[in-house]
Amino acid sequence: MSDQPVIIPRSDHPISRKWISQNAIRVLYRLKESGHLAYLVGGGVRDLLLGREPKDFDIATDAKPNEIKKIFRNCRLIGRRFRLAHIHFHDEIIEVATFRSNITDEESAVETAVNVDAGASASMQAIARTETAVPDTVLPGSTNSAEVHGPVPSERPRPPRMLKSGDGMILRDNVFGTPEQDAIRRDFTVNALFYGIVDYAVIDYVGGMDDLQKGLIRIIGDPVVRFTEDPVRMVRAVRFAAVLGFEIEARTYEALLDHKDKIALASPARMYEEVQKLFLLGEGEKTFQMLRHTGMFGVLFPHINAWIDTEEEGFPHTWVGKALEWVDTCVQAGRKVQPHILFCLMFGPYVEMKAAGLRSGGMAPLDALDAAVVEFLAEIVPRVQVPRKVALAIREILWNQGRFEKTQGKAPLYFLRRPGFADAFEYLRFTSELTGERLELRAWWKEFFKAHPLQPGEAVPAQERKAAPLQAKGPEGRKRRRRRPGRSRPKPGAPKT
Ligand code: ATP
Ligand code: MG
Repeated sequence: MSDQPVIIPRSDHPISRKWISQNAIRVLYRLKESGHLAYLVGGGVRDLLLGREPKDFDIATDAKPNEIKKIFRNCRLIGRRFRLAHIHFHDEIIEVATFRSNITDEESAVETAVNVDAGASASMQAIARTETAVPDTVLPGSTNSAEVHGPVPSERPRPPRMLKSGDGMILRDNVFGTPEQDAIRRDFTVNALFYGIVDYAVIDYVGGMDDLQKGLIRIIGDPVVRFTEDPVRMVRAVRFAAVLGFEIEARTYEALLDHKDKIALASPARMYEEVQKLFLLGEGEKTFQMLRHTGMFGVLFPHINAWIDTEEEGFPHTWVGKALEWVDTCVQAGRKVQPHILFCLMFGPYVEMKAAGLRSGGMAPLDALDAAVVEFLAEIVPRVQVPRKVALAIREILWNQGRFEKTQGKAPLYFLRRPGFADAFEYLRFTSELTGERLELRAWWKEFFKAHPLQPGEAVPAQERKAAPLQAKGPEGRKRRRRRPGRSRPKPGAPKT
């Protein structure tokens, strides 16, 4: 890595200020006027160079979080793992991060001490406690470290700003650095380009411009070290390759194949966020195929992967891909697909298969569905922390499928006016198209829907949806609820308003 970055002057790159959010430009200028270095960084620069519309605009600066807070009244500091500044505008939040450094850079002066924490879990037993010696004063305009890290009580050691597990996984990194250090601690070369408003040039420390031109996703530095530090980067590699239509560079790809099992060590909560990005950005099907091909899907969703590998009436192995094609079509048409719809489309038949098994063992239908959803959640959560509210929504969608059969009397209108109707109908639309079953029913409901447009005030607002608690039932089945005195039973078929 050279000390001197490649500078691509304004005349040699296509980024025009008019494509950048005005709020981001304002933040860049304010930081500059306050005497700080500030660049547009990350996916925003990458997407602008590719002629794509950026999802968000991130800024990196040499101003410390507390300094940023003083410059912007509309600033909130967030994050425990990394301290970041969010600058709030009425329709947008601009994220501003202080330049950070990656401790694994051997050029950084480091002190290493082994800290064995008696209360730590087994994998944390041999934590290498490492704190950088990069002085805070390397940053122009920086103030003393006590302002940033708070006063340090003399009897207690300061918590480490950089912490790695004995296996080399980053547990905490909040070490400030120089712009170059900030570039090389990023994940991929194409994500490490900086754009400045002083001369409108692009600054490239890592060969990112070359890789953008070649269409390559290349990890910065040693791929094994970088994937071990943070296994989520492997999942991100696949996402960027699929969404940008790029290839994963050979060494990066090889390391990914060799180390994919480490994905199981990543935080399940973070993985849930990442999984949504994998499948909801309009290239979900392609991403899914790449995840299957590399074996990463099996690490993320072992049970579902095993189900996909079994062939039952020809569906399981094609189902998830077809569901994602459907989702891609919606996303590409500009429709927002909610996570519970995504998960229900992808995994609904898997849950239904479990429920059918329990029903055939004698369990009542609703109990069987509840137990199937609980089991599904227990299987998926250790790797991908799907929230319970998503599981509850999946249960509601699947349970409501039976209501489509009731086309007589007041039942259809009652169902139509329920808040869960739209989600359930989306599932019916997709499943009927894929299986060729219930097509007539779907057409009937479409007509019925058209013939009964919502009157103002008729719909039950989504917030009023009340989901019953989800519990695995014992063999005795569902507990009877005692009716509270004074509450009359609602008239059957009466629409809820
Ligand atoms: P998207 O278009 O999906 O937002 P992005 O590249 O902007 O893509 P973000 O998750 O918004 O991705 O992250 C912003 C930037 O932060 C990245 O471009 C990259 O430089 C850096 N980054 C994000 N996650 C990591 C990571 N796990 N390791 C190293 N750098 C990362
Ligand atoms: Mg981004």
